[in-house]
Amino acid sequence: MAQDLFQSPDYFMVDDLLTDEHKLVRDSVRNYVKKEISPIIEDYAQRAEFPQQIVKQLGDHGCFGPTIPQEYGGGGLDYISYGLMMQELERGDSGVRSTASVQGSLVMFPIYEYGSEEQRKKYLPKLASGEWLGCFGLTEPNFGSDPSGMLSNFKDAGDHVILNGSKMWISNAPFSQIAVVWAKDDNGEIKGLIVERDMEGFTTPTTHGKWSLRASATGELVFDNVKVPKENILPNVKGLKGPLGCLTKARYGIAWGTIGAAMDCYDTALRYSKERIQFDKAIGGFQLQQKKLAEMITEITKAQLLNWRLGVLMSEGKATPQQVSMAKRNSCEVATNITRDARQKFRQRFYSVALQPYHQHQRILSLICRTIFFPNKFYRYP
Ligand SMILES: Cc1cc2nc3c(=O)[nH]c(=O)nc-3n(C[C@H](O)[C@H](O)[C@H](O)COP(=O)(O)OP(=O)(O)OC[C@H]3O[C@@H](n4cnc5c(N)ncnc54)[C@H](O)[C@@H]3O)c2cc1C
Repeated sequence: MAQDLFQSPDYFMVDDLLTDEHKLVRDSVRNYVKKEISPIIEDYAQRAEFPQQIVKQLGDHGCFGPTIPQEYGGGGLDYISYGLMMQELERGDSGVRSTASVQGSLVMFPIYEYGSEEQRKKYLPKLASGEWLGCFGLTEPNFGSDPSGMLSNFKDAGDHVILNGSKMWISNAPFSQIAVVWAKDDNGEIKGLIVERDMEGFTTPTTHGKWSLRASATGELVFDNVKVPKENILPNVKGLKGPLGCLTKARYGIAWGTIGAAMDCYDTALRYSKERIQFDKAIGGFQLQQKKLAEMITEITKAQLLNWRLGVLMSEGKATPQQVSMAKRNSCEVATNITRDARQKFRQRFYSVALQPYHQHQRILSLICRTIFFPNKFYRYP
């Protein structure tokens, strides 16, 4: 693949809103993506293979659970830093950002927020460092948008419980050492359980043939009378608010991440518009192309400002799930439009397998449908 020459314009001096620490975090992840992700990712996406080596690398760069306190191995950073990390990772690849989002927001967050002190100490440092990868099991074959109907269940058996059921479309599943699984107890109440890979009766078949997020590993979780010790049940939450709380954090990462994908498309389109000669001049010299580029960077800048404000509210503990959904919905729409426009307006270059926008567009399509807006309420889908 060609060298990653990404440059980020800043017409509204958004950088002035960032602290030195934010800029350090962003630049460190940006450099990591340029050096380790961009050169390899198209090849992995083409082969639909998960680049396993990134798990340790993401841990080393502090991308797993950056907001988790340092005493548990996390970064102790604020939500702007977390958002900037997701933006930079997704500029490289949505699958890479998904791996980090799932680990941080859907595995480490519930263990930190709903877990016992023993669970925090046992699992969080290994997950933060990338020694272990985790996954989050909520979706079932017949219950996607409506997880309350889930069939996975566990029955009391003395000092342990017996877990049965299955989950599907689970990111990271084939390579995970642990899974945070949501299932119903004897009373029909939803609880979270930490299931470890070596527990008998637990398998994670890989999902093949995805058209999007091809460099991300997806699989099923199958529980056939799995004996789970009671100390692996998350003690501090019950009901759907457990998984929905995790999904709000994950959506926050998606709001930033998809704008990273859009930034990459804009950068590639701008560069191409200066290089591609038609009618004896660079196509970027034609006003119709300039209009499209101007619209792209305007929408990116507006979304960055919305995300920044949301990050401030998140760090202050004031953000609502509706605000998170609003930002995610906006970012997905902006990114989808920009990737589509990049493909339509700048043509042949974007159909090349070696270039990002085609690949970005495919993966964003898989995210856009997952947040639905209703006039007076945000329905939040995983
Ligand atoms: C690549 C990938 C990775 C994933 N990773 C995970 C993971 O790690 N863990 C996990 O638990 N799940 C994961 N999922 C599952 C994902 O969260 C579900 O796809 C999502 O919850 C939607 O469920 P569904 O696909 O069954 O769609 P359905 O629920 O069948 O919905 C189909 C369509 O109908 C729409 N719809 C549904 N209800 C309504 C309504 N009331 N009003 C209007 N429209 C509606 C939906 O928006 C959607 O467009 C992943 C999915 C994908 C594709």
